[in-house]
Amino acid sequence: MAKEVRVRFAPSPTGALHIGGVRTALYNYLFAKHNNGKFLLRIEDTDQTRYVEGAEQYIIDSLKWLGLVPDEGVGFGGDLGPYRQSERKEIYKGYVEELLANGKAYYAFDTAEELDAARAKAEENKETFIYNWSTRGQLKNSLSLTEAETKNLLDNETPYVVRFKIDDERTVLLDDMIRGKISIDAKTLDDKVLFKSDGMPTYHLANIVDDHLMGITHVIRGEEWLPSMPLHELLYDGFGWEAPRFAHLPLILKPEGKGKLSKRDGDKHGFPVFPMEWKTEEGIAKGYKQEGYLPDAVLNMLALLGWNPGTDQEIFTMDEL
Ligand code: GLU
Repeated sequence: MAKEVRVRFAPSPTGALHIGGVRTALYNYLFAKHNNGKFLLRIEDTDQTRYVEGAEQYIIDSLKWLGLVPDEGVGFGGDLGPYRQSERKEIYKGYVEELLANGKAYYAFDTAEELDAARAKAEENKETFIYNWSTRGQLKNSLSLTEAETKNLLDNETPYVVRFKIDDERTVLLDDMIRGKISIDAKTLDDKVLFKSDGMPTYHLANIVDDHLMGITHVIRGEEWLPSMPLHELLYDGFGWEAPRFAHLPLILKPEGKGKLSKRDGDKHGFPVFPMEWKTEEGIAKGYKQEGYLPDAVLNMLALLGWNPGTDQEIFTMDEL
């Protein structure tokens, strides 16, 4: 029997949902419905410095208003919860320990100042600093230090991060459902941080672990994540897990045609269609009031952006889409 199709929308609650995020949610929703699959909402809130109070509720309310109702996830139930990453910290810790034990990850103790100095030195030589096979040996980590030195630092509660040890012998072969085949020399990748000593995972670790545990079969997201795909493939490999299929969608750009839309642009080019006043102390959503757009109009506009049915039809019902 073919595996059930499972997709997710995984926003970070760092501000109001913008129209690019709605488009990602729409593609995920339609892909799930078309394949009799499931559409999940996962809140990726591991970066507490960027957390905005109320943003999660705004995302949930927006999806409901648009009719893109998830089958599982924050605000919608499901058996694989919690679907909010800040409530899954212990899970990520277990997986990072597994990578450390298997020699696929290592501790790094470099301070921000030491890393800045390494960057400045590389710049002097007109090079870009990358923390990987080429520099590990000169930096302060469990691969360059002796076991006793590492143990001593850990015992003294020296702040650390855990970095993924990229296998630089590899050529990473990718097959994106939109971009097609891509090959990357792993020597050009850096050993990304997966976990910090404050107990928080980074986006990369939490994202992979959750997509695996939540049975995600297709990752449909914005193209800004395409550069992370090689790392994600290597992480799946490191855990011995089968990777999902990836589809990186072209981005909606700002009206000037330059630069991607971001939540910071919310007020100017965001999602000024939400039918209720929605304000926080930061005022991130000021202006997000009823502007008279109907949900179907928003969805039709987004569906026809970068896609054409090959006929003259311009208005679609959700079922037709
Ligand atoms: N949390 C990421 C974001 O806000 C999700 C990226 C992904 O879908 O993997 O864009």
